[in-house]
Amino acid sequence: MMKITPVLCRAGKMDNYAYILTDGTTGVSAVLDPSEAAPVIAECEKQNIRPAYVFNSHHHFDHVEGNLELKEKYGAKVVAGAYDCSRIPGADIGLEDGDVFKLGESEAQIIRADGHTIGHILWYFSADKVLFTGDVLFNLAIGGLFEGTPEQMWNSLQRIKKLPDDTLFYPGHEYTVYGLNQIYGPAAERYAEKALARLREGLPVAPVSLGEEKICNPYLACRDFGEFYQMVVS
Ligand code: ZN
Ligand code: FE
Repeated sequence: MMKITPVLCRAGKMDNYAYILTDGTTGVSAVLDPSEAAPVIAECEKQNIRPAYVFNSHHHFDHVEGNLELKEKYGAKVVAGAYDCSRIPGADIGLEDGDVFKLGESEAQIIRADGHTIGHILWYFSADKVLFTGDVLFNLAIGGLFEGTPEQMWNSLQRIKKLPDDTLFYPGHEYTVYGLNQIYGPAAERYAEKALARLREGLPVAPVSLGEEKICNPYLACRDFGEFYQMVVS
């Protein structure tokens, strides 16, 4: 099993989540999307962790700005999508769609998911049933189309929809509140109630199961590309 600690970064501004991942068997650790170094280092020190890796989902500054400091402080290797390596600070290792990367005895499968950006990757730990979605999928929402087309985003979301319902997903931002105003149906209302209760306690809404998200997130729930297209262009 892998231990996952969310670290809120840019709190009250962009509300990014970095995640500290520790393989349960070996203790080998990584930081996924270190938006800024300071809060991540504080949590690593609290847990007495020296991350061996920085994992990135995509090149945007709010996901990589802590890379170099973590690299310097811990000697961490920076692992990113191959497409992004030339534009991610400190990138050492580039991964392609379908590659497997080992964190101790935990294994991540790389899923390329263009749409928010070209070359965005998802980190899928199938044995742990955990998926890190970066800025492709948020709670009840999706990331904006900065580089990709609606078709590319749609295809990426269809790949996520094929993953098992009991997969827990961890997004790159706490953006649930923005998704709350476009939901409908009793399941989504229950989701919203739970989400608001978590936020009131100062907790991340994540993780939510993909099964629940497939029903409640309007971008995952829409039936065909035409319907999706209307949502993303309106
Ligand atoms: Zn982004
Ligand atoms: Fe972002």
